[in-house]
Amino acid sequence: MADIIALLPDHVANQIAAGEVVQRPSSVVKELLENAIDAKSSTITLIIKDAGKTLVQVTDNGMGMSTTDARLCFERHATSKIKVADDLFNLHTKGFRGEALASIAAIAHVQLKTKTNDAEIGTTLSIEGSQVTEQEPAVVPTGTTISVKNLFYNIPARRNFLKSNPVETRHIIDEFHRVALAHPQIEFSMLHNGSPVFNLPASNSRQRIVNIFGTKTNEKLVPVSEETEIVKVSGFVLKPEFGRKSRGEQFFFVNDRFIKSSYLHHAVSSAFEGLLKQGTHPGYFLFLDVDTKSIDINIHPTKTEIKFDDEHSIYAMLRATVKHSLGQFSVAPVLDFNKDTGFETPYEYSKKQPSAPKIEVDSSFNPFVDDRKPRQSNINFPFKREKQPHWESLYVGLKDANSASFSSTERNEAISTEALEFESDEITGSLFSTSENENQFTTFQLQQKYIVSAIKNGMLVIHQHLAHYRVLYEELLKNITVQEAVSQQLLFPLQLQFSKPDLEILHKIQEQLEHTGFAFSETKGEHLEIKGIPIAVTESQAETILEQLVNDIRDEVPDAGFSQNDLLAKSMAKSMAIKTGMPLNKEAQEHLVHRLFACKEPSVSPDNRPVLVTIDTNELDRKFN
Ligand code: ADP
Ligand code: MG
Repeated sequence: MADIIALLPDHVANQIAAGEVVQRPSSVVKELLENAIDAKSSTITLIIKDAGKTLVQVTDNGMGMSTTDARLCFERHATSKIKVADDLFNLHTKGFRGEALASIAAIAHVQLKTKTNDAEIGTTLSIEGSQVTEQEPAVVPTGTTISVKNLFYNIPARRNFLKSNPVETRHIIDEFHRVALAHPQIEFSMLHNGSPVFNLPASNSRQRIVNIFGTKTNEKLVPVSEETEIVKVSGFVLKPEFGRKSRGEQFFFVNDRFIKSSYLHHAVSSAFEGLLKQGTHPGYFLFLDVDTKSIDINIHPTKTEIKFDDEHSIYAMLRATVKHSLGQFSVAPVLDFNKDTGFETPYEYSKKQPSAPKIEVDSSFNPFVDDRKPRQSNINFPFKREKQPHWESLYVGLKDANSASFSSTERNEAISTEALEFESDEITGSLFSTSENENQFTTFQLQQKYIVSAIKNGMLVIHQHLAHYRVLYEELLKNITVQEAVSQQLLFPLQLQFSKPDLEILHKIQEQLEHTGFAFSETKGEHLEIKGIPIAVTESQAETILEQLVNDIRDEVPDAGFSQNDLLAKSMAKSMAIKTGMPLNKEAQEHLVHRLFACKEPSVSPDNRPVLVTIDTNELDRKFN
């Protein structure tokens, strides 16, 4: 048989290697920023166009390259950072594989401009698909500018595989954050499509965090610092009460390199044990310095995973240090997040005689306004009733059985009380209260979590949070897509603070948010001014809702088949829905049940959990046998 093995041509080998190094525009950003740092720059500018798909450009004022190096840097395995294998165990630079530029040049149009400090004149060089198309002397400042245009121009499959611009931009911003956080002493700026996104002056670590994530972050930071023989730890953790629903601000840096480590994450999480509200995650910015000889960075092509020699000691030490810091800044025990403070009796009231409940008239009630729109009440329970065929059918045959049913007269009466505000006092209803004169609709609340009701052949148990979640979700979705909701104008606009990337997210969905009833004024710096909010939302809820929304959008799995509107409705509905632990009076219970059964899909929550279960009398009977 003839010989069939041949060496791949360089440009093919480079393209294959590029698959590993360059997954998306943000990979280019990472490599270029790291090269700029390795070149000892003090100012670095990142410019991107169309989420990096059209252009990624990094300009630095570092040491630059000679004319020969300008050509060589695009060769595979060309690096100035290691010379012999032993150097691998003594790395002080980000790069060392010498394959980033070769890979990038294989799959994009690249232009390099560079000059060293001692040279009079610099070099400009263009390369595309690994072919140098131009190399000339040029008058350029000391330092290097690399422009990467039309990424994947020669691999359409890869180009088509790229996600939407917001998603790719998000990845780029994440990389930018990681690099900028690791090097606060370097000045960084970033522009996207001509507008500045970040301007980060040289500073210390704390200021850098604050400059990126917003001034409000400052008061949330708890410093962490410890030094032992094997590792030096510094940085900050976020106070437990600022734990995020999403795993947003979690950063480990080892020798100034961002790394991912579920093992170390576990160490930090366990230090937070018992302090975080359920369902929230700790935030941290932790810098570990270890002897370069004790780690192996070489195990992952994009170098975000590393291996420690003495992992167990680092784990123990990290956990203890974080615990200690949390304790020292007296954010440790005492907090009981499970209590819903909103419903605790204020201390000074605890000995007072209870007074008779008052009925307050909703002064905003206007009979000429479309009364299908929800009005605000203390417990955000717009009181209205709709026709519920499903609901009533459950009750068929109950009337005679001494259990209450909903007659049409009762329904009419209920409508006339529509404008009432309900006190949020606790009326849980008793299992045995079946006295005749009670104008009763048999629902009661169980453990401030479920609404239980008798039905034709058994009982119905409704999860109050999931039910309200379903109701609000359908309403919001309708508002966003079909008919706009009414907004309540605020006398004093709310000023909310968000980081720049978060503001960008909110800006993108501004129109949909306006359909739900939010009204915005201009954004000023990090402040978002809100002049109107949805009618079913209180001022104090508005911030939580928007924060959660931004988190959810950030965590969105792109292309998972959900539309932006759906996500928005889900996120808002979830934040707004009454929670477990919220006492509901009888009318609120009934009202919720009625709204639920007016929904298109009353039995499942928007996140596909069962909203209600029925328990058959037969099933009960069996238990008594
Ligand atoms: P690595 O960073 O692993 O060495 P790269 O392909 O990223 O490999 O870069 C190859 C070489 O090009 C580097 O080792 C460095 O000498 C040179 N180089 C790349 N970017 C810059 C820059 N911004 N300033 C100065 N030299 C650079
Ligand atoms: Mg490099």
